[in-house]
Amino acid sequence: METLINEELKIRYESLVGKEHLLPIKVTDFYKTKVNEEIDAIGYGGPLYRSVIPTLEKLDLHTSYEARDYVEEYKHMPIPNVDYIIQKYEDRVIVIITELCFSHCQYCFRTYNLSEFQKDDFKVSLSRKVRVLKEYLRSNSKIHEVILSGGDPLSIGYENMQFILSELNEWDVRIHTRAIVYEPTVFSQEMIRLLSLFNVRLVFHINHPYEICQIVKEKIRSMHMCDIKMYAQFPLLRGINDHSDVLIELLTMMDNLYIRPISIFIPDPITYGADYRVSFSRIISIMDELNWKTPSWINSVRFVMDTTFGKVRRENILKIEGKHITFYRDGHQIEYYDLDDGIDVPGDINKMLWKSQG
Ligand code: SF4
Repeated sequence: METLINEELKIRYESLVGKEHLLPIKVTDFYKTKVNEEIDAIGYGGPLYRSVIPTLEKLDLHTSYEARDYVEEYKHMPIPNVDYIIQKYEDRVIVIITELCFSHCQYCFRTYNLSEFQKDDFKVSLSRKVRVLKEYLRSNSKIHEVILSGGDPLSIGYENMQFILSELNEWDVRIHTRAIVYEPTVFSQEMIRLLSLFNVRLVFHINHPYEICQIVKEKIRSMHMCDIKMYAQFPLLRGINDHSDVLIELLTMMDNLYIRPISIFIPDPITYGADYRVSFSRIISIMDELNWKTPSWINSVRFVMDTTFGKVRRENILKIEGKHITFYRDGHQIEYYDLDDGIDVPGDINKMLWKSQG
């Protein structure tokens, strides 16, 4: 990693990893090649760089309200002492099937929990997770979908994936993954056949058009040829994709590849997240620009914010008082705090779209 990050910053970051529940720097060779190509073209701090390498601003920039775990997943763990099953909605359940990711995203909203899970004492075997999950599913007839999440579920390998999908054959299975941009080789023909056989829904987490190179496109096309249903959701991130032109390029590529984008997430107000957040007024402007500039197969994607009580949208805003925004959902008021003034410096479009702008 020496070539990607200043040594002093690296030492400082590493000293905070354990203390502050940050994720160690981890980048696959596949993604690192793209980051290096970006550095050669525009220097440090471009969109793919910011995705995986901590910046000085990430460590030093803070805003008035920050939470370790804004969505408070621990409040939705229905089985006592089981922290890998999360249920927020009546008909579906999330399973943290692994705590491992191929690379660590610097903006990850699950940073706090993942860093806990990655400690050895918290690791639970896959077979135990599946056994506990199935017992829970059998006692809850309203649940019809299991969402494999993480960490990255594709990191568990073919045999483990085959085991889980066979065990969960009675339920719909959805997989949330960023493997397609970090380690597309995991989508081997064998893996694609397996996912197709069990009719899995794949939800990709792709943030930027330059994450979709020729290799990634070919994998996605192979999955489409095997009738795998593909979706996408991703966060709106400052300096990575906080401009309607970046979103248009990304969403158009997805459309061409038969990927259905479902949600763009407003980043959670988490600790060490201020450098990635976008001010609320700018989020609204970007939403409007997307709506006004593009046809509906591009702008039908929803901007949402995940909260303790489920996802909320713009139409769920109850009131805005300065930096304090109140949303309403299912009888609950949800409080959100905008960035302090002066923090939100928009990403430079010439950097974010350096290939096309150049
Ligand atoms: S792959 Fe997902 S879980 Fe892993 S660090 Fe990135 S955002 Fe977080």
